[in-house]
Amino acid sequence: MDENDNPAAERELGCPIFEAGILIAPHDKPTCNGLVAPNMSKVRRHLQKQHLKRKPKNGDPHLNFLAHCLTCNEQFIDETVYRATHNTATCRKSKRPRKGDDAQREQWITLCALIFDTELAQRSYDSKHSPS
Ligand SMILES: [Zn+2]
Ligand SMILES: [Zn+2]
Repeated sequence: MDENDNPAAERELGCPIFEAGILIAPHDKPTCNGLVAPNMSKVRRHLQKQHLKRKPKNGDPHLNFLAHCLTCNEQFIDETVYRATHNTATCRKSKRPRKGDDAQREQWITLCALIFDTELAQRSYDSKHSPS
């Protein structure tokens, strides 16, 4: 069910929570072992498996809900908002997503910004283990 199986040399994507965590609290034990994913659906699957409702040592879970609407290609961490119109016939926001590096980057930062904030999301993306 991957919507992006393009094997082209795209930049690998990390786990937003892992990457941001390194910036926020470099000495804390990360909540996961990180991720090297070729596309956003793998990133979302990782978050759903590893992070959903999982509490870090101190504080609230980073993520209580995560869904991706295939119609408008937006990501949601608020279940109420998502259930209201998305992935149903009432959502007809836009056409199929653009693909490629830019789209992946945009989605990654958008998702990370939903969980944290835009500034941190941008920094997390940029600081991602440099591709060698
Ligand atoms: Zn993770
Ligand atoms: Zn939608």
